[in-house]
Amino acid sequence: MDKKHRKTIIAGNWKMNQLASGVPAFLDELVPALRCGAGEEVVLCVPFPLIPAMKAAAGGTVVRVGAQDVSAHDKGAYTGEVSAAMLQDLGTEYCIIGHSERRAYHAESDELVNAKLKALLGAGITPILCVGESLEQRDAGETLHVVSSQVKAAFEGIRPEQAKAVVIAYEPIWAIGTGRTATAEQAQEVCGFIREYLAEKIYDWETSKAVSILYGGSMNAKNAAELLGQLDIDGGLIGGASLKPADFAVIVKAGNEDA
Ligand code: PEP
Repeated sequence: MDKKHRKTIIAGNWKMNQLASGVPAFLDELVPALRCGAGEEVVLCVPFPLIPAMKAAAGGTVVRVGAQDVSAHDKGAYTGEVSAAMLQDLGTEYCIIGHSERRAYHAESDELVNAKLKALLGAGITPILCVGESLEQRDAGETLHVVSSQVKAAFEGIRPEQAKAVVIAYEPIWAIGTGRTATAEQAQEVCGFIREYLAEKIYDWETSKAVSILYGGSMNAKNAAELLGQLDIDGGLIGGASLKPADFAVIVKAGNEDA
């Protein structure tokens, strides 16, 4: 399976921004501007309380609804947590896990990310697994080591058929929210490495070529086309620019191979 047979996924990460009351107006502006290709999916990963509003407003449009985190537990005494079954019940189709902000501010370990990935697969929700190195790690030449150990740990105990349903987002931490995007070559190098690692060290090429790998980190309306044109970059995870309907629509168009 080559790039044109994999899904192109343009996913917005709203982080802790926007209100449920603002969702309909946002989609009223975004949806008419979207030029989405046949093999392309548009996803908005919103805070938990915004999911019902997003689901209602996105009904009948190409926009799919995602969450930004999930509990590793099925149910029980875990105050403040939200389970995969609860997300599924609300019609959530995607969920980010292992975002660097959660790894950094909530001390999420690779083992926890692996448990969350399993919880999502069990509920039929597509995980968007984030991996990426810090600036110090890149400068020390540790990028590929860091990324491969995050990937290895996240896929522990996942069968090949399940792995094909996982989306990976390579997000160098130094590029997130900084305006400092990885060059297309840097992004392709790591995304290509992840695909090779999945094929050679964990699964096989058939499995690896089915996995959509996204780039995230200051992707915007100007740099999206070049990044999305790379061989192993199957889409983007977009923070800041996903809060601006016009910019997000330009990124979706850049991912549309039919355009
Ligand atoms: C993100 O938080 O996943 C992200 C990529 O943010 P930004 O696009 O703002 O760098």
